[in-house]
Amino acid sequence: MKILLVNPNTYRVPPVPPIGIEHVAGAVEEAGHEAEIVDLCFSDSPLGDIDAAVAAFGPDIAGVSVRNIDTVLFQTNEFFLDGIRDIVRHLRERHNLCVIVGGAGVAVDPGGVVEYLGADYGVAGPAEGAINELLDDIARKGVAKRVRYRSYRYDLRCPRKTEKTDYARYLREGGIGGFDTHKGCSSSCVYCIEANTRVSFKPVDDVLAELRSLADRGCSSFHLCDSEFNEDLDHAIEFCGALKRRGPSIDWALYMKPANYNRKLFRAMKDSGVSLITLTVDSWKKCPLYWSDVEKIVFSAKSCGLKIMVDFLCGFPYEDEETLCFYLDLFRRTQPDGVGINTYIRLYRGLPITDIIFRDEALKKNLIGYRGDGGLVMPVFYNQLSSERLSELIAGESIFRIEGLEKGVNYSRRAVPGSAGKTGLPECSAESAGHGEER
Ligand code: SF4
Repeated sequence: MKILLVNPNTYRVPPVPPIGIEHVAGAVEEAGHEAEIVDLCFSDSPLGDIDAAVAAFGPDIAGVSVRNIDTVLFQTNEFFLDGIRDIVRHLRERHNLCVIVGGAGVAVDPGGVVEYLGADYGVAGPAEGAINELLDDIARKGVAKRVRYRSYRYDLRCPRKTEKTDYARYLREGGIGGFDTHKGCSSSCVYCIEANTRVSFKPVDDVLAELRSLADRGCSSFHLCDSEFNEDLDHAIEFCGALKRRGPSIDWALYMKPANYNRKLFRAMKDSGVSLITLTVDSWKKCPLYWSDVEKIVFSAKSCGLKIMVDFLCGFPYEDEETLCFYLDLFRRTQPDGVGINTYIRLYRGLPITDIIFRDEALKKNLIGYRGDGGLVMPVFYNQLSSERLSELIAGESIFRIEGLEKGVNYSRRAVPGSAGKTGLPECSAESAGHGEER
């Protein structure tokens, strides 16, 4: 079969290489199919470029990636699905192609997103692990289910096809490379779609081979696409050691959670080229030990010469201002390089925080964007603390930054004190309500 893979992501602050599509291209070619990629990131005429690719390649089927539904942040929110729906419709109606959608944005609400886009099929979970089965079923006309769910599994070796991505252009326009060491997260944050997802680690040698191939293509700076790097302390330390000994020399940035750390990890990260850590912190019902971990991580990172920023999600139901002030004081004391604060919580179907809010009529008054029909594909936020009030509380201190007031990402702001935010990372991690970011 010939499959045309379309990257419809034209978000360029910064531009994000289509890593998910590179994996899917590798997977289908391994199975003997042919793949062609149409990357619309820098396109002046997306539908025209699709027409040209269809004419030249003659695909049997099309795949469209959905990296994110929207930018996740409230103030500068951009909703992406309408543009993607136009592309799906064009492929189906103009070219009579069956369209499969996949990517982190689909996993957020598989049924809702596939329906909204009008696609024929959707894959929730890593499409590289499901695409060949789905293609076989379609060829046999045996597909019953519109949405196929797939867990992460790295026993399936999947080479990543990077040759068709114009990395020179991405790098020129401010993008950087992306890679992952594992999928899934064992934590249980109530606001995050990654919570309690199956964790599988990629063989370290495979990751190093990917990095070497991207280094050959000019990438020297990377952002890790793992939800949080320190899912497993031993694995994180082992990876850093292997990268230092056998990998290319790179500069990289990563996310971590307040768990699974020690001094050895921070030293290993520093030795392997890590230049920026973004620590994911939230204020939902945490015990004192959690805050103690936050402090220790900030101190350890700084003492090892690592820059560390915090993405802080707060303003949860039943939380008062006094509690928030306590946390702000903690950050004033520990002095990370920056704290991006988000008080607008993006709600998704099936999340515990969504259920908590929808069960309480008083809380529902704080919903923004809700139309009363249960739909959460279009952005709905919970907010009980306005940006204006937050501005008063942080009193113009340079360490703090209100998330969402401007576009950008931590790695492109790293030289700017008091900046943080997780918008626009290399494609491969799931969209998350939790961090107030688009990963
Ligand atoms: S917010 Fe981070 S630590 Fe929490 S579940 Fe999501 S990915 Fe895991």
